[in-house]
Amino acid sequence: MEKTLSIVKPDGVRKGLVGEVIKRFEANGLKIAALRMILLGKEEAKAFYIVHKERPFYESLTDFMSSGPIVTMVVEGENAISKVRDIMGATNPKDAATGTIRADLASDIEHNIVHGSDSKESASYEIAFFFPAIEIY
Ligand code: UDP
Ligand code: MG
Repeated sequence: MEKTLSIVKPDGVRKGLVGEVIKRFEANGLKIAALRMILLGKEEAKAFYIVHKERPFYESLTDFMSSGPIVTMVVEGENAISKVRDIMGATNPKDAATGTIRADLASDIEHNIVHGSDSKESASYEIAFFFPAIEIY
């Protein structure tokens, strides 16, 4: 059993896609182990995406991620990290496979509905960023 951190981003919440994202995870055998809606401040968004601090999209991305409420969740299951990434699809919806969340629902490379940890290391960092152990089932 593996745990990963996923987020329905501000565009996903605005478009009413919280249930749709969770439904796709659950339909693929994954379970929700923690769940919370929050509004990130700009500095918190920058801390969450600190690995991207040198990238040209860092300012714009962290403005976007602090532009409205997000739904953070811990998702659990066998190979949960890669499974969530597969269900999400490629970062750019133009490159994402048909049937993935981003291909079906995202508008562009920045506003791509959903986040998922990309490795065991980032999953540990990202889960601890949002959830104390006592809130994870
Ligand atoms: N992003 C962007 N422009 C880019 C690449 C990424 O705005 O050229 C945004 C996008 O919202 C993406 C996030 O930055 O989801 C993090 O980028 P990463 O490369 O980690 O993609 P992900 O792991 O989310 O697929
Ligand atoms: Mg990433």
